[in-house]
Amino acid sequence: MRLSQMLFVTLRDDPADAEIPSHKLLLRAGYIRRIGSGIYAYLPLMWRVLQKVSQIVREEMNATGAQECLLPQLQPADLWKESGRWDTYTKAEGIMFSLIDRREQQLGLGPTHEEVITAIARDMIRSYRQLPLHLYQLQTKFRDEIRPRFGLMRGREFIMKDGYSFHVDEVSLKATYDDMYKAYSNMLRRSGLAFRPVEADSGAIGGSGSTEFMVLAEAGEDEVLYTEDGKYAANVEKAVSLSADAESSPFTTYEKRETPGTETIEKLCQFLKCSPTQVVKNVLYQTVYDNGITVLVLVSIRGDQEVNEVKLQNELTKLAANYGAKTIIALDVPNPEAQQTWTAKSLPLGYIAPDIGNEYIAANKQIHPKFVRLVDKTTVDLKNFVTGSNETGYHVVGANWGEQFPLSEIVVDVRKARPGDRAVHNPEQTLQSARGIEVGHIFQLGTKYSQAMGATYTNEQGEEKPLFMGCYGVGVSRLAQSAVEQSYDKDGIIWPVAIAPYHAIVTIPNINDAQQVEIAEKLYTQLNQAGIETLLDDRDERAGVKFKDADLIGIPYRIVTGRAIANGKVEVVERATRKSQEIPIDEVITTLKNWITAAIEVKK
Ligand code: ATP
Ligand code: MG
Repeated sequence: MRLSQMLFVTLRDDPADAEIPSHKLLLRAGYIRRIGSGIYAYLPLMWRVLQKVSQIVREEMNATGAQECLLPQLQPADLWKESGRWDTYTKAEGIMFSLIDRREQQLGLGPTHEEVITAIARDMIRSYRQLPLHLYQLQTKFRDEIRPRFGLMRGREFIMKDGYSFHVDEVSLKATYDDMYKAYSNMLRRSGLAFRPVEADSGAIGGSGSTEFMVLAEAGEDEVLYTEDGKYAANVEKAVSLSADAESSPFTTYEKRETPGTETIEKLCQFLKCSPTQVVKNVLYQTVYDNGITVLVLVSIRGDQEVNEVKLQNELTKLAANYGAKTIIALDVPNPEAQQTWTAKSLPLGYIAPDIGNEYIAANKQIHPKFVRLVDKTTVDLKNFVTGSNETGYHVVGANWGEQFPLSEIVVDVRKARPGDRAVHNPEQTLQSARGIEVGHIFQLGTKYSQAMGATYTNEQGEEKPLFMGCYGVGVSRLAQSAVEQSYDKDGIIWPVAIAPYHAIVTIPNINDAQQVEIAEKLYTQLNQAGIETLLDDRDERAGVKFKDADLIGIPYRIVTGRAIANGKVEVVERATRKSQEIPIDEVITTLKNWITAAIEVKK
């Protein structure tokens, strides 16, 4: 392709609305164009990158025996009502765009395809002989994200590869899941990314687990906790660790103490001269279940620890049936305004005890009349602890479970693991923290969707059984931008060779020099004929401008038909290292071919 004929527009300055390097660079280099909030046009250079990533994804998926298909983006609401996700997706989370057609039928724009694929499996899979089966697609997904940002990282329209597998049992599911683990690792390695697979939260869906593939970068929205020995890595939402040992309590007898102005653990510990590990703090949450019932939640956790809200949400989802509900649609720390909607009298905030009375909850049909009390494991073994007294300005010391306070039956792990904590698998290892961009997520779904939607098969004994399912997603457009986030310098993008839009760019420093033009034209044609994807910068611009642009768009190799042609050579510059060398013109093609093959093959 000739730059003179391309839509080639680069910007000298950083666009105002871009925050992270990769977003700025893709805009500046003319790869993408913002059309609306979270909506981007993929311009020709970007489209080539996306096609390359897609091709790698396809090759790795096909190698596992999965088959490509294409599912509809317009999805009937009825399917989502069958799975029970319509309300959550359109109302609670509001992530799905929905519409009503001219026949007054409700439809959604696909944010994901479990419902569609399960409906197909229900109709077409009859027997164990058809299993296992794995279908995947590459397609634009629609999600009305609350905070679209960072360009392609979190768009409202983005490209995803999503695959769904069906199995007779968990063993078969696990085998495909393991294949996907390898396929995903291959995809990312081949795309030139530094990444880490991490244990991830599977939400309330359960199953035997899920893995996220994190591209390591400062701009990542996720926090990963890992150990140096490489044996443990998890999303902080899911991570577990050993908490520090509690110091033994200085209090030996139970008494109520006046502790004015000690609403925070820090102030309290200063006042009482004790350690936060001797305090049971009681944190209030408010949750709304999908039937509209609000439940007030009191979490008792050790004073030096914090609540992991993802773990808490999972625990509360397990309790949904107690309130006649299936799932949770909101979980918050109630602010003063929210408190007013349910309190019968003013709360002793900062001084709440584990046994705060249910009479604080106002009578209301939509509000469950009792607190649900959860006790985090960190507090169970505490002796002679400090906690609130339910009276503002007073705490109690020397308290014990089973004496002054009944221990709730619901003992859970809702503690947030933190960097510096000791690892569970080996207490000599401490957790380290890194930022990550989630580019892929593989998931053992089990029978959640097949049961909800009645997707069954007949086993060898002739019995009808629900299908076991797995699902596997990789954000193709997010992955492409992540590569830039990991690989750039002050002058622009440095594409990994395997996913660069072009391998090489031939730059003519002066288009008025007939010999420069002739050699460049010839090389350009021969390189492309040899399968080296090459651009020709034949614009009537100054050489400096052309070099700057070539650096900005990040093409791996630049070939300059400048002064060296007098000696039958051209200058070849490697973008990543800026290494420059003069190569005889008739050796350029073989040399580049070798370099490119080496760069791509080494990752395979
Ligand atoms: P996130 O936590 O980042 O919102 P998710 O858990 O919603 O991601 P999945 O539903 O598992 O993501 O989707 C599979 C993959 O699709 C993700 O791993 C990610 O790479 C990509 N993805 C998800 N949402 C977006 C988005 N809004 N823009 C671009 N890519 C996305
Ligand atoms: Mg999401």
